[in-house]
This record gives sequence, C-alpha cells and structure tokens, in this order.
Amino acid sequence: MGEADRARGDFSIVPPPPAKAPLKVLFVASEVAPFRKTGGLADVAGSLPQALARRGIDVRVVMPLYQGIPWSKLERLDGAIPIPMYYGTTMAGVRMGRLPGSDVPIYFIEYNRFFDRPDLYGPPGQAYSDNLERFSLFSRGALELCKMLGWIPDVIHANDWQTALVPAYVNTVEWAKPLHGSATLFTIHNLAYQGNWESGAMFITGLGQQHFHSGEFEHFGDLNLMKAAIRHSTLLSTVSPTYAREIQTSEYGFGLDGELAARTRDLRGVLNGIDVDTWNPATDPHLRARFDRDDLSGKALCKRALQREMGLPERPDAPLFGVIGRLTEQKGFDVLAHALDPILDWDLQIALLGSGDKEAEDFFSLVSAQRGDKFRARIGFNDGLAHRIEAGCDFLLMPSRYEPCGLSQMYSQRYGTLPIVRATGGLVDTVQNYDEGAGAGTGFVFHDLYPSAIANTMGWALSTYFNRPAHIAAMRRQAMGQDYSWARAAEAYEQLYLEAYQRRRGHPFG
Ligand code: ADP
Repeated sequence: MGEADRARGDFSIVPPPPAKAPLKVLFVASEVAPFRKTGGLADVAGSLPQALARRGIDVRVVMPLYQGIPWSKLERLDGAIPIPMYYGTTMAGVRMGRLPGSDVPIYFIEYNRFFDRPDLYGPPGQAYSDNLERFSLFSRGALELCKMLGWIPDVIHANDWQTALVPAYVNTVEWAKPLHGSATLFTIHNLAYQGNWESGAMFITGLGQQHFHSGEFEHFGDLNLMKAAIRHSTLLSTVSPTYAREIQTSEYGFGLDGELAARTRDLRGVLNGIDVDTWNPATDPHLRARFDRDDLSGKALCKRALQREMGLPERPDAPLFGVIGRLTEQKGFDVLAHALDPILDWDLQIALLGSGDKEAEDFFSLVSAQRGDKFRARIGFNDGLAHRIEAGCDFLLMPSRYEPCGLSQMYSQRYGTLPIVRATGGLVDTVQNYDEGAGAGTGFVFHDLYPSAIANTMGWALSTYFNRPAHIAAMRRQAMGQDYSWARAAEAYEQLYLEAYQRRRGHPFG
C-alpha cells in the first residue's frame, strides 16, 4: 500500500492477518477406545481428543496397531518410519483412521512382531517379557511419526508407564531438533503400574547408562519409567484434584510420593468426563422406562423392573442400594462384607453386580443364596445390568480404598441415584455430602474405611429416605444437574497445554 492509499484511508488491499494457527497436540496412548481397551485410559483417549478438537485444537492420536483392530479399513500411509532402537534402526508402518464420529486423526504404529498379539501387555496376570522393548519402540515411533508427517506438535500429551519414555526422549535424543521445543504433559491414570525393570534393562530404552541415576530413571536401584516421566515432563497431571494431592503421600503414592511431592507445583488434577450420551436416563435403551430431572416417574418403573430382574421382592417403598464394580481390594467391598450382618436386619435391599477376586465372588454369592429377600448378587460383567442398577436404585455404594477418579458415582448422579462414598480421590471431588440443615447435597460421604462407618452412613441415608423424603427429592435433582461432560475436562486440559507451552518456550502461545 502506497502513501497515497494510506492517506485516503483505503486499506482494502492490505492482506488480512494470517489466521491464527491452532494449538497442535499429539496424544500418545497405549490404548484407545473403541479400538482396544483394558481400562480407564482407553476411555479418556477415545473421548478427550474429540472434546479438544471441538475447542479448535489440532489434536492427533497415536497408538500401536494391535491384533483385533480392523486394519484393513485403515488407510496405509506411504513409506515407513525409521525408528532408532538400541540395536540400530528398524522400520515400522503407519496406518491412519479417525476417532469414530469425528475428524480426529488416529495413527497406528504397525510393527507386527511386537503388537500383533492377543493381549495388549500380556496374558491375564502376566506381562510380556519384551514390554520394555515394545513400548520403547512405540514411544520413539510416535515422535518419528511427527517428523514423517512434517507436523511438529506444540504439546505432547503422554499417558501412563507405556508412554513414559516420550518426555525423556524429547529432552534427550531430540535435543537440538524441532521436537525439543514441544512441551510435554504426562498424565497418571494408574500409579500402581510404573514400568519397573531391573537396572540392567536400561540399555533397551536406547538411552545411555548415564541416564540411569536417581535424577532420572533409577528408583531404589531399579529402572522406573514413570519416575523418568515425572522428572522430564513439563507438567504432570492425574485424573482428579484430590487424587493429585493424595499421591504425594506415602499412603497413596506407591513409592513415588516423594517424586510427586517434589513437583507439587507442576502436578494438577483434572477430573475425567463421562460419556453423557451413553449414560443418559432420558434415552438409555437398556432401561425399562426413561426419565429425566423434571419427571422421575420412569425411575420408579426402573426400580420395580430391577427388583424383578434381581429376584428381590417388588417393593417400591424399600430403599434399594446398588453396588457395581471390580471385586478387588481397591474397591473396599471386603469391608462392606464385614458390615452386612447388621445392615441386612434393616428394611432395605441391596443389588450387587461385580466380578473379580474368587473369595469375594463366593462370599457375595453365598449371602445372595441365604438372604435373597434383601441381598442379591450377580457375578460377571453385564453392561446392560450396570445401566439398570444405576437407574433403578435409590443409592449406590462405593466404599473405595483409593479411587483415582471413579465413574460409577458420576453415572449414578445422572440417574438420580445418590452415591454413598468413602472420601477418597475423585469421589471427594464429585460427591457433595448431604447437608441436613440445607437439605442439599448429591450423596453421602464417610471417611474411615471401617464396617461401622459404612453401616452408619447407610443408616443415615436410610433415615433421610424415610424421614426427610423432600431432601432426597431435592438431592436427586441436584445430582442430575451436575456437569460431567468431556467439554468441561477439555477446557481444563487446554489450560494445562497453554501453561506447559509457555513454560517450554518462555512466551505464551499464539
Ligand atoms: P475402575 O476403572 O477402577 O474399575 P470406575 O468406577 O472408574 O472403576 O469404572 C468402572 C466402570 O466399569 C463403570 O462404568 C462400571 O459400571 C463398570 N463395571 C465394573 N464392573 C462391572 C460389571 N461387573 N458389569 C458391568 N459393568 C461393570
């Protein structure tokens, strides 16, 4: 534009400012629903990226191409990626698809020798002996993929031990290369699995022995991948604010509490979202009748149908308590078992669905046979019945020992079923304890994991049910109005990405 144009105020020939480039995020996960799943990580990896994309983030997902993934329906990218391994460079293929129902790209690292196996990490209760090599290849491959695509992410989001090497590689082998500028966020979904090997395995990561010291990979003499991620990541997170605090204590830290406490300022808790379409009482196809916050009449029909399905007496007036979950130590059902004797003398019913430890399965089956008028158990995994229990019960019991986030208590609130929970992890962040004075709250909370505490709190819920029904009705409404969508979680993750970016680059994004 010449002086004359400017003088005339004619700016029409000034080119528009370049459109702001979106934030680029690579989401690295060893499992992504619905492709392959063993736990909650897969649900997060399948849902969160879609919610991030809806916020305008250029997010792409990468996972291994396991057996059972419909590879023939995926696009095969030209060429192969060279992945440096400890013994030299190996070549891996790449396939591409989209997260179902979205445009979010998902890349699959194809390396059949490692990933064309029936299980993700090993047969039940076991680990494949070459897991360190498998996930070194995957983690390094995810970074090489970016280079092949010519797409350098602003932030790399790694998850759990399987991808814990990613932040370490970004800080070491990528030194002085474009990916070194990428910020890293490492999210802990399950602290119980840290990626431990004996010290001699260090060479398999492809990183030299000089990284095996207490400031990086060495933890009490062994190799610990999660420790390295905690040391190397720009920021850290876990799946609820309370769990983020708890894992810095010896009670919940699985030996990494000191490491996590040392980074307390950089460790955040972001509550997982839930799939609010699948878990919606107004549309749920698993239910006998549908209902919503303004009309709960369908819930009464669901209760009756559930009593019939479980073989309990069809009594609309009997308060019905649900129990759903893995029968493992984590869930605290062993303590519930000790509380059952006095509880089953009261006017209530309990419907349990779960599978897991044989001893627990046998115990609850026995009680079911002996006290079938009040207690019925179904052993096994049954998704439809889980929906019907969430919908048909008045209360849901979760006496967990620890609970990083927990889903069932969020589902139950959407269905107007008030959770009775131990004050731990995500349960603290999602359940508002009943306030008798105000007649408000979304559930009932207890602190000590003792049979008497469970019984007392169930008694409290029971007396509220019989003596203050208006409070129960108000609590149901409050519970059903909670926002547990992934949109809320995605907003929080975007803030973390922006903060991590600023830390890494020294200036804000954009
Ligand atoms: P965790 O991931 O520790 O098992 P969560 O509460 O986060 O616990 O998630 C458990 C999920 O698995 C919930 O959706 C719950 O309904 C479901 N679930 C657990 N056990 C069963 C079962 N036996 N049958 C059906 N669904 C189950």
